[in-house]
Amino acid sequence: MESIRKTFKSSFFLLGTLLAISVSCKKEVVPSGYLTRNVVIVIMDGARYTETLGDSHHHNMPRLADEMANDGVILTDFRNRGETFTIQGHAAISTGNYVTINNGGTEAPPFPSIFQEWLAASGLPSYLSWIISSKDKLSVLSKTTNLFWFARTRPSTDCGIYGDGLGSGYREDSVTFQKSLEILAGYVPNLVLISFKQPDVIAHAGDWPEYLHQIQTVDEYIYGIWNYINTDPNYKGTTTLFVTNDHGRHEGSADGDFVNHGDSCEGCTHLMFYACGPDFKKGVISGTPRELIDISATIAKLMGFTISQGTGKIMEELFR
Ligand SMILES: [Zn+2]
Ligand SMILES: [Zn+2]
Repeated sequence: MESIRKTFKSSFFLLGTLLAISVSCKKEVVPSGYLTRNVVIVIMDGARYTETLGDSHHHNMPRLADEMANDGVILTDFRNRGETFTIQGHAAISTGNYVTINNGGTEAPPFPSIFQEWLAASGLPSYLSWIISSKDKLSVLSKTTNLFWFARTRPSTDCGIYGDGLGSGYREDSVTFQKSLEILAGYVPNLVLISFKQPDVIAHAGDWPEYLHQIQTVDEYIYGIWNYINTDPNYKGTTTLFVTNDHGRHEGSADGDFVNHGDSCEGCTHLMFYACGPDFKKGVISGTPRELIDISATIAKLMGFTISQGTGKIMEELFR
């Protein structure tokens, strides 16, 4: 009798423990108290701060620096403090952690992304969260090697030439821009990352004038996305936009130093940052030091979910 009671007691204890674990793992979206219902992150791959918002003449980014600036907040000391390559920079944004993984797209980040965490917390279908990019390898952002999150809900992807991720090759930014508008119109997703490749690609080819021209072209795409979310009834007044880079390029003169990137020099780490939305201040330029991993923490606060493993901080200075 005593042993039956002991067995019953220990089973009950085990059940209670399992229940406690499952409750602590269950997360949910709670009303955040903010107006934001949608977040769009736009990344311009590999443009250096001195040619973007660091240029006081706004020569290459007139749309963002002149027409969009009054609608949001610009941070002048925004950094990639991890590895200054494409996959690592993007993963710092999507997971809130600096990661050491390869830049080829064959190795997923060891942490879950905000896309996974938001989908899991909200219980909404995967077509409401998207990773859209010109570089096929960025589809790896939809995955993780984290055991708990490995097989859990993942965002939709439209990356590379055929839109199906690694192996299809890079596609033109004009295609990524069109696809972005089609996906916003067709699926009306709530959480989207869009990445344009060409400033990085053409800089690697050593073509300085064309590098500047491609920054201007992506500036137009960013302006197009900003216009869309400011006029479309599904997005107007409920959407927050972030614009940044994954990494910069080596500092120094125009002739040569800009070709590559990947260390911790001023040029590689200093990035542009712009954000606008119904919960953010307007027409503000702030020198508060911030970094890539702070974006995910800020998005989680706006959208009312918690991220389990992010190490970034909420960018309080953006909020009204
Ligand atoms: Zn590059
Ligand atoms: Zn460098």
